[in-house]
Amino acid sequence: MDCLFCKIISGEIPSNKVYEDEKIYAFKDIDPQAPVHILIIPKKHIDSLDEIDESDSELLSYILLKIKDLAKEFELDKGYRVVINTKEDGGQSVNHLHFHLLGKRSLQWPPG
Ligand code: 5GP
Ligand code: ZN
Repeated sequence: MDCLFCKIISGEIPSNKVYEDEKIYAFKDIDPQAPVHILIIPKKHIDSLDEIDESDSELLSYILLKIKDLAKEFELDKGYRVVINTKEDGGQSVNHLHFHLLGKRSLQWPPG
């Protein structure tokens, strides 16, 4: 499959890895929008949040728990934001489900 993030998981494309286990892979965003900007992705290819189903619920809660651990590890004690851009209007540019973890600066609301 011609998927950028699947290639990052396999190591075909290099990345700055911060965490990996049998289910997920986390790495630094190449174009950081905050001092801490980590992408967390399932190893299983899912196009977007719009393609998840009941069978993914355990994986999704697992990802959120790991994001909480990463926030602790990166000392985001003042807070952070988790973003899942989804499809065209959501601003998704890579079609492999990913969670952005942003922190270490005060983030504005609403987003653009
Ligand atoms: P999206 O716009 O789909 O929500 O997020 C995709 C993210 O992937 C963007 O923040 C972009 O900077 C990041 N990205 C795109 N290509 C690469 C890459 O080759 N390596 C890394 N580390 N991040 C990438
Ligand atoms: Zn993929």
